[in-house]
Amino acid sequence: MGDYASQHSFRIAIVGGGISGLYCALAIHHHCTKAAVSFKVDVYEQAPEFKEIGAGIGLRPDAAQLIHNVGLGDGLTAIAGGSGDMLYRRFDDGGEIVTVPLSREGSVKLAPCARSELLELLKGGIESRGAATLHTGKACQRVEGLGDSVRIHFTDSTTADADLLIGSDGIHSQVRRQFVSDNATFSGFIAYRGVVPMKSLPQWPLPSYSVAWLAKHRHFLVFSISSNEALNIVAFVTKEESQVVHTKESWTSTCSRGEVFKDFEGFHPSVQDVIKLMPEEVSRWRINDHEPLDRWHYLDGKVVLLGDAAHAMTPHLGAGGSVGIADG
Ligand SMILES: Cc1cc2nc3c(=O)[nH]c(=O)nc-3n(C[C@H](O)[C@H](O)[C@H](O)COP(=O)(O)OP(=O)(O)OC[C@H]3O[C@@H](n4cnc5c(N)ncnc54)[C@H](O)[C@@H]3O)c2cc1C
Repeated sequence: MGDYASQHSFRIAIVGGGISGLYCALAIHHHCTKAAVSFKVDVYEQAPEFKEIGAGIGLRPDAAQLIHNVGLGDGLTAIAGGSGDMLYRRFDDGGEIVTVPLSREGSVKLAPCARSELLELLKGGIESRGAATLHTGKACQRVEGLGDSVRIHFTDSTTADADLLIGSDGIHSQVRRQFVSDNATFSGFIAYRGVVPMKSLPQWPLPSYSVAWLAKHRHFLVFSISSNEALNIVAFVTKEESQVVHTKESWTSTCSRGEVFKDFEGFHPSVQDVIKLMPEEVSRWRINDHEPLDRWHYLDGKVVLLGDAAHAMTPHLGAGGSVGIADG
């Protein structure tokens, strides 16, 4: 820390209030309070409110453990779904490929949850302990090095100075763009996404709600979220870029349910039953990716990237959000 920091609270600005950014604010508060370090954290989110899309996310046990470590374990357990094993099945006859046991006695388990409930848990944790000041409607446009500190210029013409800037502003990170000239590129996959109430499901023929039906170039994944009251659906299909010019990385990008039926033709009747429950207009998500960076810190360590801003990845490991939490 420079002279300023030895006399004043160390000022940390987090740009981007998604899962990675909010967890990072909590982790800084947790560790710096323990170490009796004087600090001040501000989180700057571009959107008018801290909000997540209506989809599920599976947090790996290590990420779930980190949430327990900052004192939000009970809250996470309350919103998580899924209590059975993870079943990998053949797409057509539903035959077993492998069953992965997910629950180990006494250990923190995988936590599949609704993204909105997870974000609310993190935000509530920040507010209840005064871990950070949360700002909305603050879109970072430009970053300027000022020697010992860094200045953030927002699109509303305001600025904020900090001793450390953490860029957690997602796959199209504006903070990253200041230091790296690359763009996210199409990964070759799209995903159909949806959430349906558990009570709308017909008789469930399997011993667990965590199931992936696998075929070449297509797989259909479900897991329960929201205290097992809803089933999250995410179904991946390989596509040529020319087939997805109108498909965006956005909840507003949709298609008819008929397209999901078409792409998953020949899949097991249980899959067809789940598709029938999806709305007429289904979310169709473009999956983008980034080349790995060889460094995630700039301006002599005064700017650092984390989460998708640093290392966006395709969702097949179900790991982007979990790794973003681990970064914090
Ligand atoms: C279909 C799909 C399924 C997935 N499933 C899983 C899963 O099961 N498990 C898992 O761990 N991961 C999963 N992932 C990956 C996971 O969603 C991401 O890795 C995670 O959301 C990254 O979080 P983040 O906070 O880094 O970025 P984001 O969630 O993108 O958050 C970035 C935040 O920054 C804000 N922002 C953007 N630009 C600016 C700016 N200029 N100024 C200020 N704020 C800004 C945004 O509004 C947003 O709030 C999945 C991804 C997809 C596409």
